[in-house]
Amino acid sequence: MSHAHKTDITIGTSKEVEGVDQVDEGFRVHQLSPSSWNRYEQCPRKYWLSRQRLPRKASMPAVVGNAVHNSVEDICNLDIDNREDDEVGWMPYTAKAILDGHWNNEKVGFMATPRHPRWKDDLITQAHDGLVGALKILCSKSLLPQTKLSELTISDWKYVQSLVLSNEGTLVSECGRLMGRLDLLVADLDENGQSRGWIVADLKTGRPPTGALDPKVSRQLRFYRDLLKRNNSDHPPIRAEGWYSANQTIHEATGDNVIDDAFVAWEGMRPSSEPLEATPGERACGFCEWKAWCPAWWNATGEGTLSSSGAFRDEVVQIIRYDSEGGAGLLERMASVDESGNVSKSSKRFGFTVKDQAKNQLDELFSDGYEGTLFIGSARVSSKVLHLGDWSEIIPWQPILENTMPV
Ligand code: SF4
Repeated sequence: MSHAHKTDITIGTSKEVEGVDQVDEGFRVHQLSPSSWNRYEQCPRKYWLSRQRLPRKASMPAVVGNAVHNSVEDICNLDIDNREDDEVGWMPYTAKAILDGHWNNEKVGFMATPRHPRWKDDLITQAHDGLVGALKILCSKSLLPQTKLSELTISDWKYVQSLVLSNEGTLVSECGRLMGRLDLLVADLDENGQSRGWIVADLKTGRPPTGALDPKVSRQLRFYRDLLKRNNSDHPPIRAEGWYSANQTIHEATGDNVIDDAFVAWEGMRPSSEPLEATPGERACGFCEWKAWCPAWWNATGEGTLSSSGAFRDEVVQIIRYDSEGGAGLLERMASVDESGNVSKSSKRFGFTVKDQAKNQLDELFSDGYEGTLFIGSARVSSKVLHLGDWSEIIPWQPILENTMPV
């Protein structure tokens, strides 16, 4: 059986990135990754703000994804050379122990992240299911006769490991401008178990697609595929696949090479003192974590281009009255005055209730003596009252209009 040797594959470069950033001398080198590319494409300002070292936001879906990815990596790298080949029953408890370790690490990181919602311990079940799903996909790709983890022998897993050519490697273009974290590179077996090429796989712990792959996901997968091709001139055929652990489905990304487009985007992503253009829109702004520092979405809301309704809303407000003990008060929505984030009073006032994390944030701001305008993220609205809790954020409204990083 012939498989590529792991050492034959160039996934990255260890050399220093040279000449990448001479235009802005002294500024950090910038690299395009699939996620920064998506951010830039959705809204250049979102990308620009993401580089301003603003307090980061943690999320439970990211925790689940990280825990699964890191566990798959460890299980692929398990040292089982000295174990008995016919041992069975070892995988379920090994996988569980590895996942538990990563889950605990994730929790420490999550709690230390300045902006984080409530920790949900019960989601470890989802992570566990995701890990089992990912391992089953690996077994089926290796053409093992069964994929039941409890029946896997040590010898089975040694075989799977032999087909994994790389995992969690950093793919970097020769020039250093393009990079991405590659989850898995495995041998693509034909029905006789012969390798006919490589599969670059990205593990997905989110919702599987019902039809075609999301264009962003397709482009991300093709980016890995095309970067691998670029780095390995004598590469065999390469398929790019999204492996959805939730229902163990595999979706191949096909289509044009995306590297030229990536270089064009890289040019536009150069660090700049001036903020990049903002392109507010329902989709881009919906889950944008940089709103408290972006004047554009509030201006667009004021102008009616962005909707201001819905069961959950983001607001820019001034507190009129607040009873900390009772966890309630009155606030006034601030009207957007210009594209710089200046606001003025308005006649729109709402009652609000506040508890848990949002209350801690508000109390802390008050005890620090902050009396300025506030950004409220994700207020639940019912009967014209805003309800703030663990699902919300309260942050000073401080739009950023120039680069705060050393240039
Ligand atoms: S809030 Fe909207 S306009 Fe502002 S940076 Fe985010 S996506 Fe762009």
